[in-house]
Amino acid sequence: MRKVNTVQIAIVGGGIGGLTAAIALQQRGFSVRVYEAAASWQPVGKGIWLPTNALRALDRLGLSVPLMSCGWALAKIEILDCRDGLLQQVDLRLIAERLGYTTLSIRRADLHHVLCDHLLPETCQLDHRCTGFTQDEQRVTMHFADGSETVADLLIGADGLHSIIRQTLFPGIAVRYSGQTCLRGIASFTLPPPLAHTCQEWWDGEHRFGFSAIDERHVYWFAPLLAPAGGNETLATLQLAKRYATFPQPVPTLLQHTPPAEIILTDLYELPPLPSWWQRRVVLLGDAAHAMMPNLGQGGAQAIEDAIVLADCLSKLPLFETLHAYEQTRRPRVERIARAARLFSQIAHIRSGYLQWLRNRIVRLMPAWLSQRQLNWLYQFRE
Ligand SMILES: Cc1cc2nc3c(=O)[nH]c(=O)nc-3n(C[C@H](O)[C@H](O)[C@H](O)COP(=O)(O)OP(=O)(O)OC[C@H]3O[C@@H](n4cnc5c(N)ncnc54)[C@H](O)[C@@H]3O)c2cc1C
Repeated sequence: MRKVNTVQIAIVGGGIGGLTAAIALQQRGFSVRVYEAAASWQPVGKGIWLPTNALRALDRLGLSVPLMSCGWALAKIEILDCRDGLLQQVDLRLIAERLGYTTLSIRRADLHHVLCDHLLPETCQLDHRCTGFTQDEQRVTMHFADGSETVADLLIGADGLHSIIRQTLFPGIAVRYSGQTCLRGIASFTLPPPLAHTCQEWWDGEHRFGFSAIDERHVYWFAPLLAPAGGNETLATLQLAKRYATFPQPVPTLLQHTPPAEIILTDLYELPPLPSWWQRRVVLLGDAAHAMMPNLGQGGAQAIEDAIVLADCLSKLPLFETLHAYEQTRRPRVERIARAARLFSQIAHIRSGYLQWLRNRIVRLMPAWLSQRQLNWLYQFRE
């Protein structure tokens, strides 16, 4: 029988992290409400790669099977340089043999549906934009844009990169522009059989282009490029066909098969490490706590891991010990991954021809056992 816990938990933000936390907490008997700013669900970002560690974590909630049934399992990741060809190859089947799951390429909307399907009815309150909160020793009160208020025992800030909960806790800490913006889209195209289950990422100094199938007839792609801060670039000024004309196939073809209205442009920001992930009755998770560069495909995965660890800690420990244990458990891993993601993006976008040549030689010479060892650590989800 479901254990009923009297702690009232409010989650601000119904993204990947907030919904996963709500499911994990409800499965442990907590009473939970999610407050989401959007008036209807419209997950931003087209597709997402859910790596092994995310699937292992979601397996704990019984979600890996429904996700596998609507996503596309990948067998290989290849990193290639536009002039020098293949630099590195990761056999995801070996990872799956060891850790149980490969990486899944999935539409964000499908991921969102699976998460929403596993919540109790009436969990989510849409059109509730939180504008801030106040807290004392007994409770926390959230304020919403429509003038309403809600009181809870614990507030989880899962409201993403520009989190209002984080800004209320740490008003002096701002996100940093990375110097990169990123295009994303879904092409109506069937990849040739050798690429059907491969994720390829092509490097060319200022530009990068990564893609994989998301189902039999569609390909999800993302393309980070160096650009000044300010978001002045538009699809028209970027002139995609010309910009990627020198990339090998199927890159130009994927762009041709993507309706321009379906392409999104997102400036990439990072969050510097916070002094703390919690204060009294308020705790942060996901991008609100540690927004990172998307290069390792780990931002969403880390939000999922956060959610499960936080729910586990809450079911075992008193509130304040919980929040301390949650941060102690999660922070070293998340910060190591964020550093690696930043380094990856700097290495991938080296512009000097000589340094690219040197980089390519070093990356090629990296022994397979070393990259496998790093991936084993990255893809392992342990509490
Ligand atoms: C180009 C790109 C590619 C990426 N690719 C991958 C990938 O392949 N794999 C991966 O794991 N990760 C990837 N990521 C990272 C991933 O998208 C994020 O890390 C993840 O979405 C974070 O989840 P979250 O729940 O913390 O925040 P979000 O998903 O941003 O959700 C936050 C939610 O809070 C709501 N909200 C915001 N403010 C308020 C408010 N004031 N009141 C109420 N609600 C509010 C928002 O509407 C939103 O629904 C990528 C990111 C980018 C930019």
